[in-house]
Amino acid sequence: MYTGTLFIVSAPSGAGKSSLINAYLNQQNQLSASVSISHTTRTPRPGENHGEHYYFVDHNQFETLISQDAFVEYAKVFDNYYGTSKAAIEQNLQQGINVFLDIDWQGAQQVRQKVPTAKSIFILPPSLDELEKRLIKREQDSAEVIAKRMLKAKSEMSHYNEYDYLIINDDFSTSLDHLTAIIKSESLHTQKQYILHQALINQLID
Ligand code: GDP
Ligand code: ADP
Ligand code: 5GP
Repeated sequence: MYTGTLFIVSAPSGAGKSSLINAYLNQQNQLSASVSISHTTRTPRPGENHGEHYYFVDHNQFETLISQDAFVEYAKVFDNYYGTSKAAIEQNLQQGINVFLDIDWQGAQQVRQKVPTAKSIFILPPSLDELEKRLIKREQDSAEVIAKRMLKAKSEMSHYNEYDYLIINDDFSTSLDHLTAIIKSESLHTQKQYILHQALINQLID
């Protein structure tokens, strides 16, 4: 049992998961939470750096990592491979640091099987129109890529009920409060509190 919690966060592209995770991390002490950096075969967007946003690798390198059993989970999303390496999460969880996985529903299913203590959060946009507007506003993807992501949005969203928590990301600061509340309540689980306060609890009930 680790004191850190693994939080799986999924949403259709553009719903705001990266913005919410980053806003949460910025308001926290850096030693309490981190986001796992995935490997991907997709090409970097302008401003994305290797080792910061993703580890960008080619198909051959990704397949070598699969054969070395380096991934907790991996999946093909939008014609590219994405995967979470074991190294990216285990050390942090052991040190009591919460880890966010920004992964799709296929990866979420794999992680739930391997790490039953993981908690999962799904983020929905307030409407399909707003989702498209956000993808356009982000100015990171071509019209063709945006159209493809909109087409996949409904099938991604149809998995919302496999998740422990649901956030409708309409007003950003309300959504950030909701995310913060979920994480806070997880940290107060009896099993986690026992690990942190073992000496006190034993003294009190001895
Ligand atoms: P975004 O959706 O705009 O953040 O665009 P990205 O290209 O960064 O991610 C595309 C999709 O791949 C999203 O649904 C992510 O949640 C998913 N994804 C990113 N990293 C991983 C990963 O390590 N594993 C899996 N299974 N999915 C991932
Ligand atoms: P994702 O990681 O889910 O693909 P992003 O976090 O990149 O989504 O958000 C997509 C765009 O929508 C960004 O430009 C972001 O600033 C904007 N955005 C996120 N949440 C909200 C919100 N609640 N209201 C308005 N715009 C938002
Ligand atoms: P197992 O390897 O037996 O599935 O994992 C044992 C426990 O380790 C899980 O119940 C889970 O709480 C914890 N765990 C947390 N993070 C990880 C991880 O990244 N990999 C693995 N294998 N286990 C993890």
